[in-house]
Amino acid sequence: MKAVVVTPSVKDSSRLQDIPTPVPSEQEVLVKVISVGIDGTDYEINQGLYGKAPEGEDFLVIGHESFGQVKEIGSKVEELKPEDYVVAIVRRPCPENCSNCAQDQMDMCLTGNYRERGIKGLHGFLSEYYVALPRFLVKVPDSLKDIAVISEPLSIVEKAVKETYRIQERLFWEPEKALVLGAGTIGLLCTFILTIKGIRVSCLAKGKANKLREDIFSRLGVNYFNVDDTDVETLKNKGERFDIIIEATGFSPLAFDTLELLGINGIMCRTGISGGDKVITIHSDRINLDMVLGNKVVFGSVNANRTHFEQGLIDLEIINKKWPGLLEKTITRRVSFSNFKEAFTKKETDIKVIVDL
Ligand code: BGC
Ligand code: ZN
Repeated sequence: MKAVVVTPSVKDSSRLQDIPTPVPSEQEVLVKVISVGIDGTDYEINQGLYGKAPEGEDFLVIGHESFGQVKEIGSKVEELKPEDYVVAIVRRPCPENCSNCAQDQMDMCLTGNYRERGIKGLHGFLSEYYVALPRFLVKVPDSLKDIAVISEPLSIVEKAVKETYRIQERLFWEPEKALVLGAGTIGLLCTFILTIKGIRVSCLAKGKANKLREDIFSRLGVNYFNVDDTDVETLKNKGERFDIIIEATGFSPLAFDTLELLGINGIMCRTGISGGDKVITIHSDRINLDMVLGNKVVFGSVNANRTHFEQGLIDLEIINKKWPGLLEKTITRRVSFSNFKEAFTKKETDIKVIVDL
């Protein structure tokens, strides 16, 4: 079968390669891949900046945002049947099987030796077929088959939001206002999820919102700030404060700059992966005092487990009912399997780019 592979650490090495079609064991499921989303991590892997081949191999099949259909099941499989639509969880337990991995909380792995399909130590899903244990697959209702490819980035958002609410169980909390930093896939998905929770959402990002973003924001009732016009200092001076801030840019200075936009008892969740080594100066006394006197929380969130994928599917139904067709618009470009390389050429209008098999 054909697969898109890279040689990790080599710039722009992605290519279509023939590899053996996997054969499911009696506990496993064979999935035919329908589509795969491409994100910043894939881009970095193709740049040679990230990604690790499986032990003893010199290439990595990429792709971790998958949507597919079960073709074959092993004789011991009971959870799924042929023709079922599925999305796959990305992380696999660490070899030590730490206490979190043992509880299927690989997203909370303690050793850091977790593996991620298509990213770190295991082949991914951008191939005609893959095999997996049902434990790592989430069944998708037929009604969501046109949008389920968004499940993996959505699971990241579901985890961030769920953790935010769980941490805030520390107090009586009725959040009203949230600020989302960034208007890429994760940022936009955040605006959807917070809006359906009844929160008034603002989004701060770079540049003018293009027509598509404007459309999404106006339908959701999201207030958009372009940092070039309304920077963080202006928001601070205007007295803008938020109960929730979710960082989804990966631009680390912004994660510190915006701390003072957190309201009393507020919480900031950081999801952006900042690969560089930027150094900035901050008003540490001021920020520290503000955090202490305001009971504020800052935390980080990465990856997601099955419960977050499942919550994502529930929310996709809600979003589709409330704003039919709107979420699909975040898929701005689809490229064919043989032209997968085009997915790595960034276009200004891109939000989510999908490879169709
Ligand atoms: C993926 C996560 C993964 C993270 C770090 C992201 O692009 O969506 O599942 O944990 O990269 O590798
Ligand atoms: Zn672990």
